[in-house]
Amino acid sequence: MVSSSPVPHGIPVPASYGDPQRNGLTANDLFDGMAEHLFYTLGTRAEGASVHDLYMALSHAVRDRLMTRHLATKDQLRAGSAKVVAYFSAEFLIGPQLGNNLLMLGMQAEAAEALRRFGGPGLDQVLDVEEEPGLGNGGLGRLAACYLESLASLEFPASGYGIRYEFGIFDQAIRDGWQVEITDKWLKGGWPWELVYPAQSVSVGFGGHVESYGDEQGAERRRWLPAHRALGVPHDVPVLGYRVNSCDRIRLWRAVAAESFDVHAFNEGDFQRAVQEKVASETLSKVLYPNDGTDQGKRLRLEQQHFFVSCSLQDMLRTLALRGAPVQSFAEHWTVQLNDTHPSIAVAELMRLLVDEHRLGWDEAWTITTASIAYTNHTLLPEALERWEVGLFGSLLPRHLEIIYEINARFLQQVRLHAPGDLDLLRRVSIIHEDGTKAVRMAHLATVAAHHVNGVAALHSQLVKTDLFPDFAALWPGKFTNVTNGVTPRRWLALANPPLARLLGETLGDDWPAHIERLRQLEPLATDSGFQQRWAACKLACKRRLAGVIAEQSQVLVDPTSLFDIQVKRIHEYKRQHLNALQVVLQYLRIKHGETEGMVPRTVIFGGKAAPGYWMAKLIIRFISGIAETINADPDNRGLLRVAFLADYNVKLGERVYPAADLSEQISTAGLEASGTGNMKFALNGALTIGTLDGANVEIRQQVGTDNFFLFGHTTEQIAELRSDYRPWEWVEKVPLLREALDLIERGHFSNGDGELFRPLVQNIVGRDSYFLLADLPDYLVSQNDASRLWADPSAWQRASILNTARSGYFSSDRAIREYAERVWGVEPLPVAMGCEVS
Ligand SMILES: *Cc1c(COP(=O)(O)O)cnc(C)c1O
Repeated sequence: MVSSSPVPHGIPVPASYGDPQRNGLTANDLFDGMAEHLFYTLGTRAEGASVHDLYMALSHAVRDRLMTRHLATKDQLRAGSAKVVAYFSAEFLIGPQLGNNLLMLGMQAEAAEALRRFGGPGLDQVLDVEEEPGLGNGGLGRLAACYLESLASLEFPASGYGIRYEFGIFDQAIRDGWQVEITDKWLKGGWPWELVYPAQSVSVGFGGHVESYGDEQGAERRRWLPAHRALGVPHDVPVLGYRVNSCDRIRLWRAVAAESFDVHAFNEGDFQRAVQEKVASETLSKVLYPNDGTDQGKRLRLEQQHFFVSCSLQDMLRTLALRGAPVQSFAEHWTVQLNDTHPSIAVAELMRLLVDEHRLGWDEAWTITTASIAYTNHTLLPEALERWEVGLFGSLLPRHLEIIYEINARFLQQVRLHAPGDLDLLRRVSIIHEDGTKAVRMAHLATVAAHHVNGVAALHSQLVKTDLFPDFAALWPGKFTNVTNGVTPRRWLALANPPLARLLGETLGDDWPAHIERLRQLEPLATDSGFQQRWAACKLACKRRLAGVIAEQSQVLVDPTSLFDIQVKRIHEYKRQHLNALQVVLQYLRIKHGETEGMVPRTVIFGGKAAPGYWMAKLIIRFISGIAETINADPDNRGLLRVAFLADYNVKLGERVYPAADLSEQISTAGLEASGTGNMKFALNGALTIGTLDGANVEIRQQVGTDNFFLFGHTTEQIAELRSDYRPWEWVEKVPLLREALDLIERGHFSNGDGELFRPLVQNIVGRDSYFLLADLPDYLVSQNDASRLWADPSAWQRASILNTARSGYFSSDRAIREYAERVWGVEPLPVAMGCEVS
């Protein structure tokens, strides 16, 4: 086994890896580096440097210190033959980089000291000016970022592959209670964390037609003649591991035109046509689709997917050649993980590259493809399962469609042998959906080709086998597996929660972030009153910090000693923010009626973006804004209830939110949330969960103990039973005050008297209630009361909070990555030596 290689402060760096001046790890070295960058990189003087100048200078100085490790990692990989993980994802929600890289290098104190010497703003202020690249919608993109971080921290050779969207997820503002979308211009101030390699650009084709020709051996071959091409230019974001030399990368492709413009058209005087293709090419990486977990079937989306997948596979084949390895050995050098079906065109593209470009036989190419690709399923929701109409698909990727037909024909023949005469089975498993408009089912393509298909939590993986793909599971029982998601304890605990990080350092040793299993050692301290007090002080500090953010954003003043009850995530009906909002209205009515027995002062905090075209989700935001405005202004409240909606929820804000929670709302309809990762970040930071038996909640409850989790709601099976004969209006009378609450909402009490505004929301709940809010509401209210009761006993609450953190180590992305490495990828850690001894 290889040993890990911590980077001690002041590690000697061989001269061949760069200027020692740029690698020094003392405050002094960093100060010198910043001064040099202020002058030479930014063209400014230290006197009068703005906060942004200092941010840029510090970032460049820190980047210098990554470069040595980044190049050493690359050198070692190029020279060697180790299998490398290629993590394909349409989204990487990486969050701010400066603070994280300082943490990874162990230079936070040094950076603060260097800034002190400049005499201007402090480190927190400087960190605060960083624009985060919003290259993802939510959980799926954030998962990809956590996984790359763990890959680097565990010293696995890896590369993320994705798209460098010029405009990421929109910035959200709240105006008159409504969500307003603002273009995300994350590149406007210059973003210092990417390295551009124009010389490694690759060309990708689109459209056109396919023809046959005879090769030198007289064999008939197929050749794709695309109608046009775009160039992908790689932009690499270095991903340094925690206190190790391994510095992996996320390679993001930017699309540019193959020619700057059509010279012929230009000479003809048709200037508009001359630049048309350039504009069309660059549109490919222009903007992220802002839908979380729904598929719109848009042509540009398929173009984006093919673009980044083709660039990435060509890049991987190029590095294979650099290693001097034959194309036949592809699967020994690379293992590809598909983060959902978005990159599943990789199956057809790899086949095309191997068969058409490298002239391998079909069977050999198929063996390589299936040995190298694995697929992670992220959803059971039918609206999220990608399908492309055959007409659209064939016009954009004619050769890929042929290849998919061939894969399907061979696969269906296999199925025929397995189950002779079962025509219905063939129809169900076919990659091509045949009823009505023919369409390519991307999840089927990925499942047929992948050597492993995994769900993202135990319950979800079970449902993938029993509900989503029972036929495939019967064909290939060994193919299906589970890898429960995880989150990185570096960003989500060590970086986001400085008070707790300090306490953990004193209790578990400074290197706890690399050994998260040590959190278990907190268990015996859970009942220690001295430790409980220190624990509570950490939480209070985080709550004060969040209270400051809320005050600044919305002028709502909240009491940091009240119970912070938080639900932050994308706004979705299945996530049921409106169930939480309804519960808040009921608590408010109890206060109005003087029935406050058992209530404790609560601050209910919401945050999250709605897809711009998802009308009901936007109405839910409007509803939360409405109840916040009304309840916060009602003097009857007497401090028992406050409501806040945090605008523009993103990673940066998440770093403020998760550490400040007492209660984590994880209340999706059972069976609909594949895993969730927000739930893990909350538990790791000592929040207690109120939740359904859904996604990873099930495992969180098992890990932290049933006494330290507020469970409610119908199970997946019970929901399935309810579904056949559900009459939501019959549930209304079962909840005291609910009739009155719904009437108040409909009559405009929370909308300044507007009796129309929320009617569709109320109708939706009482009429159809597709997400079973009313069926779960009675039990939810009981659980909320249980939470209040425990809160009233501070020592009991602190104990449960400590136990939540102590028992959440399982949800580290380090654990998840080790499982993928062993069970799916077959890769080993490869510490980076940098040509010098590290002990
Ligand atoms: C973790 C995270 C999510 C995912 O939250 P869920 O509660 O799992 O849906 C979404 N957005 C951001 C910014 C996150 O950090």
